[in-house]
Amino acid sequence: MKFVPVADIKIDDPLWTSQFALVRDVVLPYMWEILNDRIENAEKSHCIENFKVAAGTSDDEFYGPVFVDSDLYKWLEAVSYCLSVEKDPALEALCDQTIELIGAAQQADGYLNTYFTVVAPGKRWTNHMEGHELYCAGHLIEAGVAYFKATGKDRLLKICIRFADLIDQTFGKGKKRGYPGHPEIELALIRLYEVSGEARYLSLAGYFINERGQGSNLFAEECEKDGHSFIFPDMVHFGADYFQSHLPVREQNSAAGHAVRAMYLYSAMADYARLTDDPDLINACERLYENTVTRQMYVTGGLGAAKLGERFTVDYDLPPDSGYAETCASIGLMLFSSRMWLLTGDKSCYDIWEQALFNTVLSGIGRDGHHFFYVNPLEVIPQSVSQNPTLAHVKTERRKWFSVACCPPNLARILTSIPGYIYALDGNRLFILTHIGSSFKKGGLYVKLAHKGDEYALTIDGGPMEILLRHPDNSTLIGDQFEERADGYFTIQHAGGRKEYNYCLVPQVRILKAHPRVSAAAGKLCVQRGLTTYCAEAADNAAPLSSLRLPEEAVFNEERVGWLGDAMPILKTAGYRVSEENWNGTLYSSQSSEYESCEIALIPYSQWGNRGENEMRVWFVEK
Ligand SMILES: [Zn+2]
Repeated sequence: MKFVPVADIKIDDPLWTSQFALVRDVVLPYMWEILNDRIENAEKSHCIENFKVAAGTSDDEFYGPVFVDSDLYKWLEAVSYCLSVEKDPALEALCDQTIELIGAAQQADGYLNTYFTVVAPGKRWTNHMEGHELYCAGHLIEAGVAYFKATGKDRLLKICIRFADLIDQTFGKGKKRGYPGHPEIELALIRLYEVSGEARYLSLAGYFINERGQGSNLFAEECEKDGHSFIFPDMVHFGADYFQSHLPVREQNSAAGHAVRAMYLYSAMADYARLTDDPDLINACERLYENTVTRQMYVTGGLGAAKLGERFTVDYDLPPDSGYAETCASIGLMLFSSRMWLLTGDKSCYDIWEQALFNTVLSGIGRDGHHFFYVNPLEVIPQSVSQNPTLAHVKTERRKWFSVACCPPNLARILTSIPGYIYALDGNRLFILTHIGSSFKKGGLYVKLAHKGDEYALTIDGGPMEILLRHPDNSTLIGDQFEERADGYFTIQHAGGRKEYNYCLVPQVRILKAHPRVSAAAGKLCVQRGLTTYCAEAADNAAPLSSLRLPEEAVFNEERVGWLGDAMPILKTAGYRVSEENWNGTLYSSQSSEYESCEIALIPYSQWGNRGENEMRVWFVEK
């Protein structure tokens, strides 16, 4: 099974057309200004300047975290997806100029990393735990592959290949031992293999995956060497599981450690397992995926319950207010889910993919395209956040930028690449995996999926072929022409030629409980429409939201409001509020609670924090 690539897809959808336009026309130009330090009162990036320093054309100093180069690479990757859909000569010229700058910063032997070139030239490949050299190389390669596919120009790809060849000469059996503290190179090398056909890159990805967690502790050994200096001094206390190097990858059973690192590693494992048809690795991927989505995932598709280490903790530990749920981790969950779908064809992987996208990923970006969330809690009380140091990582409003700015450019690249996840082809089978209005022409085949509200029209010209529509969880799919299968697809045999098929896809509203072992959600309920999780904000419901009580049998009315548009209704229901009347200054009381009736209004979680600082809550006590 192969996804139909971004470059072939044209989007025409009530929600996604404007979402893509926001990224292309607002977010990416804004980020370019950020990378050039031209936005007032935003955290300094210095990214472009660092490349000039490394290229010898600026006398400035390096500034930023060791992995700041990756911000530019992710920007280039996102711009490439835009260029692959629509030509833009001015933007392409800007990219070409930027690629020349990157090329000028590359060392004679192919090495490319501004921090190690400018700040620590003698320390190359000595600190895999913290150095992020292979991580940055990975994002460079992903950008190079995307730009080549979008424009046919191979200047950046050649820069990547020179660096990849140096990495290949450096690492492997009989060469230097190593693997990255932050996985990413593995995913990128597999993409480079797919575009170049060069098997060495696949083998090198396999080396980094397979060497991880074998034998002695590589990172601890590096820390003990003479002359070692720490870049992130706290990291040494994190333990091998933080880096997913506590066991060989085939022996790992539960998602562990830093959530973004975990998702990138598992995604690469799934790619490598598929390409090499490795049953043990496939099993490991299935165990890790199962553990992630049935034990350690927030109902918003968020991952990472602890701030310290931005990491997974143990099964069922999912605190709503102090968790981390980094935007990048949910982007990683989309990457992992799409690859698990390629491995298994299981439609539920796309339910998770959508759960991550519709909630935590979309929450990462403000409606103005200039503000971003890094941490995505399920409960925010602004006064507590401002006064309680253990919640210092939580932001009550989106930020212009971050000193560690991995999330915003990662959002740009995942959102611009979404068209490439809608359709997949497998011989004469066509999968429609997520119901986004779009069309493509490939070979003799033309496919168009159009929709107005819940009514969908699918036009196929070509074939004969079998069409499989994914039935999303928590929705009703009605299509008389289709046959429902037990595995969650609706299918039809298209006899060939041009024909239109119609179906109706209606998101349902449901009330969810968490597993009884999720202590933080015990006795609580939350609401989903389709796979969009909802929340209450004080902008619609008087604070404190902790007083709200939701009946388990609540019935919701959908209401369209101007600021959210037609694709995202507000949900309203009759609920209760605990009265504060008889409390008379006491903190604890034995009296029974008194309730007042009230209306509860909920908005999609992804849209919270767009109306100024206020309380927000996903889980409600049941009444
Ligand atoms: Zn991030």
